[in-house]
Amino acid sequence: MTKTFVSGHKSPDTDSICSALVYADLKQQLGVSAEAVRLGSISKETRFVLDHFQVAEPRLVESFAPEVEQVILVDHNERTQCADDIDKVQIIEVVDHHRIANFETAAPLYYRAEPVGCTSTIIYKIYQEKKLPIPKKMAGLMLSAIVSDTLLMKSPTCTDEDKAALEALAKIAEVDLQDYGMQMLKEGTDVLDKTIDELAANDAKEFKMGKHKVKIAQVNVIDFADVTSRQKELEAKLQEVIQSEQLDMFLYVVTDILNSNSVIIAMGEFAHVAETAFKVQLENNSAVLEGVVSRKKQIVPVLTDAFETLK
Ligand code: MN
Ligand code: MN
Repeated sequence: MTKTFVSGHKSPDTDSICSALVYADLKQQLGVSAEAVRLGSISKETRFVLDHFQVAEPRLVESFAPEVEQVILVDHNERTQCADDIDKVQIIEVVDHHRIANFETAAPLYYRAEPVGCTSTIIYKIYQEKKLPIPKKMAGLMLSAIVSDTLLMKSPTCTDEDKAALEALAKIAEVDLQDYGMQMLKEGTDVLDKTIDELAANDAKEFKMGKHKVKIAQVNVIDFADVTSRQKELEAKLQEVIQSEQLDMFLYVVTDILNSNSVIIAMGEFAHVAETAFKVQLENNSAVLEGVVSRKKQIVPVLTDAFETLK
């Protein structure tokens, strides 16, 4: 049987790693030869999850075409976030909870998109629909992905379906949701031992906004100073990335997960667009966004709007 890869996005977060593993498990239960792969290194938060539930990490790959003809995408659909040779393989399925942008295929496909807080919430529903048993470890991975994407239900992206999935999965995984969730999120906020390169690449995604190329990275902290104390060094690195990747803007988002606010650092020729978009004044390239925690819901749409209406 030909093998199919299940892949999340570049700079994989906990949802991209866990949803790839879980969806590969679900497909295997259905008799498909599926293998979860990843397109980047495992974050501290994700490492904590994999260790806790004793699941091996997906294999790291740089390209798809040398090994498979077909791939399933989870937790993304934008070509800029896929492996670079995505055009050489067939996308047979997408399971995702993001906006759909610059996406087209040559052949029909199964496309499942729902405006919920996490890809794993959709996969949980697919298990239910297909009446497949959810292995305890897979429940743990899905629960962790939902905690990560919804910041333990505090993000405005969190829906009732995410909450219901979390409750059901906590029972199967036999974990205390609040205790485990907080412990896991705190693990991911430990940024002090990251190099500047790692910090700049943290959860970084590229977007097309109007005619412009924008990169947005996000990091969770419990103290802004963990990042802002290294701002000069970080800015130099962001400039370097802007040059080498020809970006119009690099928006760096530092999110305080306890108080649900973010500090942004906006760099690049079009950095000023952040001021119009978020109605703030950049000072020292930076501004506070009160109550903003979700890139998907509170940053990308607003910034896309501002870029599209640029004169
Ligand atoms: Mn993701
Ligand atoms: Mn996600």
